[in-house]
Amino acid sequence: MSADLSELFESNRLWAAATEARDAGFFTRLLAQQTPQYLWIGCADSRVPANEILGLLPGDVFVHRNVANVVVHSDLNALSVMQFAIDMLKVRHIMVVGHYGCGGVIAALKELRIGLADNWIRHVQDVRNKHRPWLDGLADDDARLKALCELNVLEQALNVCETTVVQDAWARDQSVVIHGWVYGLHNGLLEDLKMTAADAAGARAAYEQALAALYARHATTG
Ligand SMILES: [Zn+2]
Repeated sequence: MSADLSELFESNRLWAAATEARDAGFFTRLLAQQTPQYLWIGCADSRVPANEILGLLPGDVFVHRNVANVVVHSDLNALSVMQFAIDMLKVRHIMVVGHYGCGGVIAALKELRIGLADNWIRHVQDVRNKHRPWLDGLADDDARLKALCELNVLEQALNVCETTVVQDAWARDQSVVIHGWVYGLHNGLLEDLKMTAADAAGARAAYEQALAALYARHATTG
């Protein structure tokens, strides 16, 4: 690695040239407009890049990432991204995407001390605490970690549904569908946790249904 990271600029030049070679005029067309259909709310983990996983190009997906894909009602950063995505870009879908083996979820589950981030991860511990009696009944920590990664997605997706931004969009009949997905680092595949909400009346039911399915799935797989 060079001190000025020149290798990254070289890599960038190759990428830009390859992109332009594959699709002439790609960048100048993007310059004219940004019309993504999707807002991805995912983990900051370097192994979970939104565009690559979806096989989408620049311009296709609006992205917000933080440690453990948490959506907090007082987080002006996440709320601003959501508001811009819904009100200005008119995205049709918001997906909250967790991933198995998430470091933030591991820290929450095992009460590991990291530093300042403990206060952020505390939100995932709230999820653990909410479902603790059920989590404690699972076979081992591997099973609990897998389940908590999924539970965190459902809870954060419900938080998205309950933001004023999404509630206001639904109140004016703007079409925005909220989804809860989880990604496998081991196989590169996305899984739909079926927490799919398209209006205010159905959000809670979508959550309850996805939660019941999650509980049932883990009861049978241990
Ligand atoms: Zn993570």
